[in-house]
Amino acid sequence: MSQAEGGEETFEYCDVVINSQKKVLDVYTQLEKLGEGKFGTVYRLQEKATGKIRAGKYFRTRTAKEKRAARAEVELMNLLHHPRLVQCLAAFQGPAELVMVMEYVAGGELFERILDDDFEHTEPSSAQYVQQILEGLQFMHGQAIVHLDLKPENIVCVSPSSHWLKIIDFGLARKLTPDTPVKVLHGTPEFMAPEVVAFEPVGFSTDMWSVGVICYILLSGESPFQGDNDMETLSNITATRWDFEEEVFSEISQQAKDFISQLLQKNPRCRLSSAGALLHPWLQQPQPSSTKALSKERIKQFLTRRKWQCSFSSLQKTGKALLALNRLTLLSQSPERKVSEAQDEEDLGCSLEEDKASGSLPWQGPGLSELLMDQEEEEGGNTVASGEGESSVSVATPPQPWTT
Ligand code: ADP
Ligand code: MG
Repeated sequence: MSQAEGGEETFEYCDVVINSQKKVLDVYTQLEKLGEGKFGTVYRLQEKATGKIRAGKYFRTRTAKEKRAARAEVELMNLLHHPRLVQCLAAFQGPAELVMVMEYVAGGELFERILDDDFEHTEPSSAQYVQQILEGLQFMHGQAIVHLDLKPENIVCVSPSSHWLKIIDFGLARKLTPDTPVKVLHGTPEFMAPEVVAFEPVGFSTDMWSVGVICYILLSGESPFQGDNDMETLSNITATRWDFEEEVFSEISQQAKDFISQLLQKNPRCRLSSAGALLHPWLQQPQPSSTKALSKERIKQFLTRRKWQCSFSSLQKTGKALLALNRLTLLSQSPERKVSEAQDEEDLGCSLEEDKASGSLPWQGPGLSELLMDQEEEEGGNTVASGEGESSVSVATPPQPWTT
């Protein structure tokens, strides 16, 4: 099968076998850095034989668990052959790193493109973006894979002038099996679903919540759950505390609001599925009246805040612990939502130990270790958390009591 859409390069979908014989630099020339990731760095590559441009995600694989995480991403991507999902084309295992070669998606983040002068930003154009995200997700969910990290940074444009999108970054994605509940301890607070905050099992509907948040931001530039700090954000999510601010949503159609309302449901079973969302009237019968330009200024403000948060959070190493503490506080405020005592204690608490040792976290109470886990899949097989994956968890501002 090959893909060709909107001027995209056509290439054969392939099942990638990790190459341990050759080095990536035997086959590709490394060009400039494209992005800094949780697990390493992404560079632009040029294939020596053809001159074709690719993206190479370099994973550190010094430890067995880093190696497993990198391999897992390649293996999942082998199941994700769809035009709306970035493709993995090759992989090279070196002594201390694995390089995943992907198709190069040249347009950058959708939200950045929206700010371009020649990029139309209306309700119908937003509906088209959401439709494309859903098409990619529908395919993923059909393969029983959840993305678990859907956010604006991971939605990119095929080219700077293209309205075709791709979902990238399957670093936190998981294949679900019916009898094995999966709980995760990662994500970016403002896009986390309530079940993630509550440390309850995730499902395909967890991604659908994130679609609701992305859609809300696309149409308004406002982030529905964002509080003054992570604690407040998580608390807003837990309480499903959000609304359509009259001033911002006055020009948005009722259908769009209904669409978002059917995604931002606390009960995962009440959310639209990807297939159901694609059938929603907002996407099926676009309103010709709603072609008014939407505010780019608010999108700009949203991006400025996100960039500031991300660069600030890269300075701190205890984001994961802060998130866990935030959650713990939330849980202690809601005694009916207790995390199971049965979590595998021995796999937990790496960060806690570091943080206790450094004296940066005064917390000594029971239960915190349950909430602090490393990137590794747990021995029990159903609980994952990201080690450095909390780079997008910001240090709360103003400072939280436990940071002082
Ligand atoms: P992480 O899991 O660390 O977030 P990503 O896969 O999202 O890693 O990659 C980090 C950044 O690298 C992205 O935000 C994007 O800017 C860039 N990037 C990743 N994949 C590609 C690609 N296929 N083409 C172009 N840029 C990419
Ligand atoms: Mg990413």
